[in-house]
This record gives sequence, C-alpha cells and structure tokens, in this order.
Amino acid sequence: MNLARQLYQLQELDIEIDSDEQALKQVTNQLGESRAVLEAQAKLQSEQQHLEELKHQQRSAEWEIDDIATRIATAEETLFSGRVKNPKELASLQQEVEMFKARRGQLEEQALGIIDQVEQSEAAVAGISGELKTLTADWRRQQKQLADEMKKLKAALADLKQKWQLLSAEIEPETVEFYQQLRKGKGTAVARVEQGICRGCRISLPTTDLQRARGTNLVHCSSCGRILFLA
Ligand SMILES: [Zn+2]
Repeated sequence: MNLARQLYQLQELDIEIDSDEQALKQVTNQLGESRAVLEAQAKLQSEQQHLEELKHQQRSAEWEIDDIATRIATAEETLFSGRVKNPKELASLQQEVEMFKARRGQLEEQALGIIDQVEQSEAAVAGISGELKTLTADWRRQQKQLADEMKKLKAALADLKQKWQLLSAEIEPETVEFYQQLRKGKGTAVARVEQGICRGCRISLPTTDLQRARGTNLVHCSSCGRILFLA
C-alpha cells in the first residue's frame, strides 16, 4: 500500500480517536451529582424546618388560648357564683374577665395568621417535593444514558486504538514518529490532493509534485509542508 495512503488512514483513525476522547471527557464531566437536585434538597430541608417552627408556634398559641379560656371560665364562675359580694371586688373581677377576653381575641387572631402561614408552607413543601422527585428521576435517567454512552465510547476507542496499532505496525517507526510530530505541529499531517490542489493549504501544486506524489516516497506540499496524499 502507498505510504501516504497508510498515513492518511492513520490520520483518519487519529481524528476519530480524538473526537471520541473529547466526547468521553464531556460525558465524564457530566457524571456525578446534580447541582439542581442538591439545590432542591437544600430548599426542601429549609422549608421543612420553617414549617416545623410554624407548627410549634401554632401549638404554643393554641395552648395559650386554652389556658386563657380556663382562666376566663374560673373568673366568670366566681363572678356569677354570688360568693363575691363586695362591689369593688366584683368590678375588679369583671375587669379581669374583660382583659382575658381581649387577650384571647389577640391570640386567636395571631393563631389564624400562623395557620395561614402553615398552610402556605405546607403547599411550598409539597411543591418542592414534587420538583425534587422530577429532578431526581430526570437525573437518574440522564446518568443511565451517560453511563451507556461512556461504555460505547470506551468500546469504540479500544477498537480504534487496536486498528491504529495494527496499521502503524506496518509503517516504519521513524515515519510514524515523523507523522505524529507533523500532526502535533499542524493539526493535520496528511493533506488530500484534489484536482491538483493541496487541501491543507488550498494551493495549486506544481505538476512535478503531483507526479512524485504518485510514487512510493512521501512528498510534501511545497507551501504548507504537509504530506501529500493523492486519493
Ligand atoms: Zn499544502
């Protein structure tokens, strides 16, 4: 086989290997924890904590309301029992009942406000939980796809590298080394020649170069220095 053709094929393999390695790197970067899932988890935790605090406030307010109701009942019972005859004492007792009732009114209003907040927080917790569930399911699906993709890429790369080994084994090691250096420097080491033009630099090649390139020796483009390959 023509040496330029062998090197061109080696280059085709190298291009594919580079592309698959790039893809593998991207897949690897995407594997792992999801920022969106972690953020939703943190948000849920914080909202659940907020809800617990609100429920605690609600229980405290309810206990206080119960307590004050007992005090009102006791005071009213004394007030209407007929046991207290002193008008001054009766008036003071009456005042106490009024004060307790006003306080109860305040507490009940507060409790309603807290219940409102509890309901809002419960709705928020339900919303975030749903969101988290969807995000987690999406993430699992994505991770599964990535893992499959990774497996495919690794298999493809192993195959390509084996082909590269086989092909390069047919070429002089110095030539392979030379090709690799050229590729490192120019990105492309072997340029196709189409209609007398070097595809590496798009210059029209002299007829003598074209004739030499048909032979077995490697011929370089006089303009860009790449190895010429006549398809
Ligand atoms: Zn050229």
